[in-house]
Amino acid sequence: MNIILFGPPGAGKGTQAKFLIEKYNIIQLSTGDMLREAIKSGSELGKSLSLIMDKGDLVSDKIIMSIIEEKIDKDDCKNGMILDGFPRTLNQANELDELLNSKKIIIDYIIELTVDENLLINRIEKRAEENLDIRNDDTVDILKNRILVYKNDTLPVLKYYKDKNRLISINGMQSIEKVSNDLYKTIGEV
Ligand code: AMP
Repeated sequence: MNIILFGPPGAGKGTQAKFLIEKYNIIQLSTGDMLREAIKSGSELGKSLSLIMDKGDLVSDKIIMSIIEEKIDKDDCKNGMILDGFPRTLNQANELDELLNSKKIIIDYIIELTVDENLLINRIEKRAEENLDIRNDDTVDILKNRILVYKNDTLPVLKYYKDKNRLISINGMQSIEKVSNDLYKTIGEV
């Protein structure tokens, strides 16, 4: 079973993806995690990625497509996957369609977690105060940029799936348990 999970930064997408991989025995393909791995390697590419990511801007579609293509071919995707943080631009969505067609892979659920912008900023301010789990791209100013980028580049992707009647929206402002219950109800037992 294959899922695309959307949500603005701070929506709890990562937390919910972890529950889904456990429950449905599928893997998570997070482009953000893959890029952070590339940065850890200390390569020249990694250095240029961190400059972009630390500002909250998007990495080029070309780089993203090449890492996704490589991962989607691996055997551990065969039982299913959650695409997390991808596609983030219309161009990536179009290229993903082509890639999936060529590999005869079907996406079963395209789900967005909806969260009010002010709530997102509150959440991130709280995390910053508590000094918990802080990433380089987790400060309030950068978060604001990431939300802007989400609105400019990723909302058109949501519209693209909505126009195809594929988009399922779940209220991400509920408790973590309620959000996961809604996800389980949507997907059902497999
Ligand atoms: P995430 O962990 O999904 O929040 O991603 C962290 C950062 O990685 C983003 O702010 C972008 O700079 C970059 N990134 C992750 N996924 C993509 C993508 N699909 N397209 C472009 N940039 C991405």
